[in-house]
Amino acid sequence: MRSKDTNSLMMGPDERGMFGAFGGRFVSETLMPLLLELDAEFQVARDDRGFWDSLDELGCNYVGRPSPLYFAERLSEHLGGAKVYFKRDELNHTGAHKINNVLGQIQLARRMGKSRIIAETGAGQHGVATATACARFGLQCVVFMGCHDVERQGPNVLRMKLLGATINEVTSGRGTLKDAMNEALRDWVTHVRDTFYCIGTVAGPHPYPYMVREFQSVIGKEARQQFLDREGRLPDSLVACIGGGSNALGLFHPFLDDSDVRIIGVEAGGKGVDHEMRHCASLNGGRPGVLHGNRTYLLQDEDGQILDGHSISAGLDYPGIGPEHAWLHDTGRAEYVAVTDDEAVEAFQLCCRLEGIIPALEPSHALAHVMKMAPSLPHDHLICMNLCGRGDKDIDAISDHPLIRRNTVL
Ligand SMILES: *Cc1c(COP(=O)(O)O)cnc(C)c1O
Repeated sequence: MRSKDTNSLMMGPDERGMFGAFGGRFVSETLMPLLLELDAEFQVARDDRGFWDSLDELGCNYVGRPSPLYFAERLSEHLGGAKVYFKRDELNHTGAHKINNVLGQIQLARRMGKSRIIAETGAGQHGVATATACARFGLQCVVFMGCHDVERQGPNVLRMKLLGATINEVTSGRGTLKDAMNEALRDWVTHVRDTFYCIGTVAGPHPYPYMVREFQSVIGKEARQQFLDREGRLPDSLVACIGGGSNALGLFHPFLDDSDVRIIGVEAGGKGVDHEMRHCASLNGGRPGVLHGNRTYLLQDEDGQILDGHSISAGLDYPGIGPEHAWLHDTGRAEYVAVTDDEAVEAFQLCCRLEGIIPALEPSHALAHVMKMAPSLPHDHLICMNLCGRGDKDIDAISDHPLIRRNTVL
């Protein structure tokens, strides 16, 4: 819910969808009425108890919420400083946080009487979550996916098909996530009457960044209560990985007004942020521009052409970042750091060995930063890290990585 306190950092965005200088609705005239209709519907749904009750019921019995808050005891001991907790959204149905947002948007689509759902996907995780929810509610599902990604993400393509979705392979541009999102926006305009566009992160034109944040905030709301119950106080630091930024904002948002809580977003540093575009760190290595209907930090060349970044983790290689993060970055409320591919793989291995949890490569980036910061912090410093996805999907991709080969008996 939008806070009534005008000094609250939880207020935003304004009616135009701006978070300071970021966000907004930079779209063609044909798209504008669809966004205004969606915005109006969401505002009504947001104030309807029944809407949130139905989502809570699905969260509880279909997704498995609340996700546990888990004290990573052996990891904390190994690092020798702060007390590290994992918020375990990897235990959700479909294995990541994406389902939180998808179920919210699907419930909204049903309220609006839409029968055809479209979605963009890169690694395939958002496509799988959307196909899942569409199967659950008997809705037609069309997933736009770059041809390059279709090739790289075989298992998720098969999952979506098993769930009854149609894959629309996108060959324009470089055939990756950015192009899939452009194609989905185009499709939406041409199928206005029956189609709902379900965006997978806190990006896109207003109201998407705001709406997706509201659906993902369940993570932070639960974590807040779980810390109060377990430790009798709030955590000292929050750490989450950033692709478009939805799992991070879901954890961060309920804590924005708690100025004692340090907030850290971890971008994909790839081969290193100083390597010319061999990374995906929009805040640490990009600059402001407009993409997918909003103004934010983007990976771009000198002429403003959007660049495809690189990350070992397919879920982190979006060339932009949600506009609310751009704002939190510029105001200094949150810090944004970058972690390299190799650091993430090292963290991945440590989590497997010390905690018996195989994390996705995306939250392994967050963990790599926790490994850097925890040792020098006092024992009573509480870190809450969002373990936003499980690693089953990644094991084939990293089986050839030199660090894995060196440290694992294969
Ligand atoms: C999609 C995905 C991400 C990146 O998306 P955000 O919107 O930044 O959360 C991160 N982790 C996992 C497990 C994902 O599936």
